[in-house]
Amino acid sequence: MEHILKGAPAAAALIEQAAARGAALREAGIVPTLAILRVGERADDLSYERGAMKKAAAAEVAVRNVVLPADVTQADFDAALTALNEDPGVHGILMFRPLPAQLDGERARRMLAPEKDVDGCTDGSLAGVFVGAETGFAPCTARAAVELLAHYGIDCAGKRAVVVGRSLVVGRPAAMLLLHRNATVTLCHTKTRDLPGVLREADIVIAAAGQRESLGAECFRPGAVIVDVGIHWNEETGRLCGDVRYEEAEPLAGAITPVPGGVGAVTSAVLVLHTVEAAERAAKKEGSE
Ligand code: NAP
Repeated sequence: MEHILKGAPAAAALIEQAAARGAALREAGIVPTLAILRVGERADDLSYERGAMKKAAAAEVAVRNVVLPADVTQADFDAALTALNEDPGVHGILMFRPLPAQLDGERARRMLAPEKDVDGCTDGSLAGVFVGAETGFAPCTARAAVELLAHYGIDCAGKRAVVVGRSLVVGRPAAMLLLHRNATVTLCHTKTRDLPGVLREADIVIAAAGQRESLGAECFRPGAVIVDVGIHWNEETGRLCGDVRYEEAEPLAGAITPVPGGVGAVTSAVLVLHTVEAAERAAKKEGSE
């Protein structure tokens, strides 16, 4: 087993898969297309958008950027989202959130067409993750965490997996995806008693608490596989870091993801693969009608 689970090779394999499946679609006259709906110019959104566009280009997935002003009205936002929902040439929609305060984020989430919800935020997608069915898509970050394990041949079956964080974006869907891979899953949160004790039972840890470098040597048993989803800016070191104190955890771990260069690198590759999958599903549906 690799000791450092770098994201780039896993992302490259997912992009290769997306490219191959996308090529089959293009032969049938379908160009898999991702729409990116962004309101304003938030630095995080811009950075993710740039990364996603690069990955999409590598897989020959088309991207349509729809940028609305930061002070866009609800009516104009709704019109833009409805147009993308109804456009048969758009297979996936990435809708950056949170939306500015004047917009109703919950309304937008409910409006998004579930079959185009390639970042897994609608109820339909989350229900699909729960059931293990192909209604919508898993949130990209959650799938990226388990795709990383799969890429490095880490079998989850029968393993004790502990997920720290129960958000709908990362922790909860990641726990479900691990369960579908037959791990025995524990989901932790701020009310968990003795978090280090629970974590020391784990063969596989998914750290998604959003707490900078909060998990250290006391939290991991020797040989544990540690997937760090957290991304934080450490002002003291001037570097990005995760939820895990890497310097302490790395010597103990059986395998560990770096931050940056771990899960984050895989997330946008999953987005591109989801877009191709959405295009495949749309083509299949059209064929059966
Ligand atoms: P979030 O919505 O803030 O959720 C954090 C979760 O962690 C909550 O469920 C919270 O518990 C739990 N938690 C917080 N502090 C804890 C503690 N001390 N002990 C145990 N549990 C604790 O965050 P998120 O959106 O899931 O994101 C998590 C991290 O992933 C963030 O660092 C974020 O930047 C990163 N992220 C990375 C990517 C990527 O592509 N790599 C994408 C998205 C997010 P309660 O429910 O009890 O409050």
